[in-house]
Amino acid sequence: MDDPRRAEDRGRREEDARDLTKMSYGSMAHQCKECRRETYAKVVRVTLWSGDRLIVVENVTARICDDCQEQYYDDDTSEKILQLASTSFPPDKVVREITASVFSLDDKQK
Ligand SMILES: [Zn+2]
Repeated sequence: MDDPRRAEDRGRREEDARDLTKMSYGSMAHQCKECRRETYAKVVRVTLWSGDRLIVVENVTARICDDCQEQYYDDDTSEKILQLASTSFPPDKVVREITASVFSLDDKQK
């Protein structure tokens, strides 16, 4: 049942909240900009960096490309994420804190 390529589990490339506007779309029928495949709707987690702070936003309705796994957000969703970003992800809106494991490919750090 679980697709091992579930989009929210894949490591998203590091991105800034401002870049999310590039992935915004207006209409419901939607094709991937990269590979022209039809996308499907899914509720995902978005991870992004705000300076040195790693931010996770849950319950994000996105459209996912089945082929390249690119995620797209509707205008309302990107607006909400940008709203959080523009207010520096305020502490009073945090729903919980998590611990993240950090790895390095630099041998000197081991
Ligand atoms: Zn694609």
